[in-house]
Amino acid sequence: MKCKFWGTRGSITVPGKDTTIYGGNTTCLEITLDSGRKIILDAGTGIRVLGENLLAKKEKVDVTLLLTHIHWDHVLGFLFFKPIFEPTAKISIDGFPTCMKGLTSIFATKRGDGFFPVKFEELKARIQYLDILRHGPMDVDGVVIDTVLLQHPQGGFGFRFREGKKTLVFITDNELTEDAWDGRHPDDYAAFCKDVDILIHDAQFLPEEIVKCRGWGHSDYRATLELARKAHVKKLILFHHDPSRTDDELASLEKMCQDLASRHDSQVDVSIAREGAHFSL
Ligand SMILES: [Zn+2]
Ligand SMILES: [Zn+2]
Repeated sequence: MKCKFWGTRGSITVPGKDTTIYGGNTTCLEITLDSGRKIILDAGTGIRVLGENLLAKKEKVDVTLLLTHIHWDHVLGFLFFKPIFEPTAKISIDGFPTCMKGLTSIFATKRGDGFFPVKFEELKARIQYLDILRHGPMDVDGVVIDTVLLQHPQGGFGFRFREGKKTLVFITDNELTEDAWDGRHPDDYAAFCKDVDILIHDAQFLPEEIVKCRGWGHSDYRATLELARKAHVKKLILFHHDPSRTDDELASLEKMCQDLASRHDSQVDVSIAREGAHFSL
């Protein structure tokens, strides 16, 4: 399995000189299975560049798009994902149960609400809703995909991919808190992430910031590190960076988290998600 980050930012796109290293686009990841099949995670603004990249290969686009939830920063890039205008493209969609509602309502409605000039029905690609994940795990070319419910306003799904002996978990927009809803306690997430090779998890806030942002559905790096330690995760990648966090601040944060992990004698290898970065497992 290979994974590439096309968007690592939370909440809103932040172009500019302070975000050239870690990136300014919102959530989008590309997973390439050993079979060659591509799975896209979320349709934040990062999906626009991914779409151009797919079309440049001059191959028929046939992808699975999984949505964690339908907040703007996770769906808005779909409007500019060029394969949707290609008659030969096939896009199979699944994820949180409201995923189709999210993807269709960002286009113009029948009443012509004036938000976007194109209606969902006018898209040329073959777009189908698989409707599997809300009932249970999904199998894509032998890779098992499981979900976990998120502690996040209006809900969401985290995903675990198991390909042979390798495991990758992607959990964004999740608040690790002792004061959690049923089944969404940090211990539940530790069970879901137990012994995984790579965990990509929300760490939008600093511990001193989260005091004012309780209930917003995001975690601070300390809680995220603790989850990785408890779950014996091998590699942790911090994700969904706060829009106001600069490259310099993220670089210091990365160093601080690495020191913190080694001080706690944890074996977790910590890094910060960077737009354009890729890895294999
Ligand atoms: Zn978000
Ligand atoms: Zn969200």
